[in-house]
Amino acid sequence: MRIANNRRRADVKRSRWRELAGRFLTMPLALLATAALVFWQRAALPAAASGMLTMASYILAAVGMALSAGFNRSRVFVVLLLLALVETVLNLPVPAGFDARLYQAAVFYCAAVLLPLNILLVSLLGEKGLVTPAGRARLAAVAAEILVAAVLIASQDRDVAAFIGRDSLALAGITALPRTAAALTVAAAIVLALKRIRRPAPVEGALLYVLPAVAAAFHFREPAALPLFFAAAAAMLTVAAIQDSYSIAYRDELTGLPSRRALQEELSRLGDRFTVAMVDVDFFKKLNDKYGHDVGDDVLRLVAAMVMEVPGGGRSFRYGGEEFVVVFPGMGLEEARPCLEEVRQRIAARAFVVRGTGAAKRVAVAVSIGAAEGGGRQGTPAEALKKADEALYRAKEQGRNRVCT
Ligand code: GH3
Ligand code: MG
Ligand code: MG
Repeated sequence: MRIANNRRRADVKRSRWRELAGRFLTMPLALLATAALVFWQRAALPAAASGMLTMASYILAAVGMALSAGFNRSRVFVVLLLLALVETVLNLPVPAGFDARLYQAAVFYCAAVLLPLNILLVSLLGEKGLVTPAGRARLAAVAAEILVAAVLIASQDRDVAAFIGRDSLALAGITALPRTAAALTVAAAIVLALKRIRRPAPVEGALLYVLPAVAAAFHFREPAALPLFFAAAAAMLTVAAIQDSYSIAYRDELTGLPSRRALQEELSRLGDRFTVAMVDVDFFKKLNDKYGHDVGDDVLRLVAAMVMEVPGGGRSFRYGGEEFVVVFPGMGLEEARPCLEEVRQRIAARAFVVRGTGAAKRVAVAVSIGAAEGGGRQGTPAEALKKADEALYRAKEQGRNRVCT
């Protein structure tokens, strides 16, 4: 018995590690690895590759910026804008009348610092929209940074050059990256990795690997590195913008459950036998009134997590408010009912701990469930959903905290 228990605990631990590792073994990492591999084999690259990669990173940046602007997202927009700007400036020839050495050192320095600085800022500040006061402030801040950089570069000042020289890690023989850029990169990586552990989101997952891509582009100060690693970074962000816009439409923000729109698609795919259930939290308004909306939100998240773990292969959705829908494809009502009963019991048995201003309190939460079968002669998904809603009404009438069919 003891051994069995220990083994189970070890299994849980291992699967937790596996889950955690999974959060970091992502598509952006694959892109980064691909870029690194190609860079390692750069001798085999055709001469035209660098121009094509530059073109690719501009196209990707344009697509990603259009998408993030369309979905009113500032973070991907700002970082892609900076990537495109930096790539452009670094590809421009030294302007007439400038000391080439001073100019190049200053441009390199500003580019290498600005990117991790802004990645750190957007990671810390979170998403506040693009066409919003916060978004405009962010764009203004980026414009101000660029202005400062332009003044520094144009000054051709010996003191600035001396500072840049002192800030370089080149003397340590490790990398040509400025000390400040390396420190900002590490800080941003820590912030993003912690966020990744807490709650995986596509944009933060991409930013985490944009950091080493950008650092690599500046570390290997050679022509092949910049277009290659920047194209990889732009690809990571653009794919994240696509994933993000998908999740805006199909995921419920509060609970992380698939949304009502996802339910509509699920319903349209159902075959000739299925069961649908409506789950509604009992006396939720009272809970909200007594403990506040934030506690209500926490309870909704917990209930959602428990509804999601319904046995029998049921798929859960947030229907709206404190209502959830569970769909059992290919399953009849008699089979689905015990699965729903189990969810109801688990929720009723669970003590929800509410941490308000005073001491932690235990709050009992219960749900009522109405279920109905559909498919074939039993009716369409929409009819089944309506029947489930009627069954839910009966469950409420009969005293709540029960499953009705
Ligand atoms: P019943 O047992 O009959 O279901 O009673 P009820 O109070 O749960 O039902 P009612 O539909 O009257 O109240 C639902 C409440 O849920 C009203 C609304 O303020 C609250 N609500 C809806 N969506 C959210 C949300 O996202 N967060 C929070 N905190 N409350 C929500
Ligand atoms: Mg309700
Ligand atoms: Mg309710």
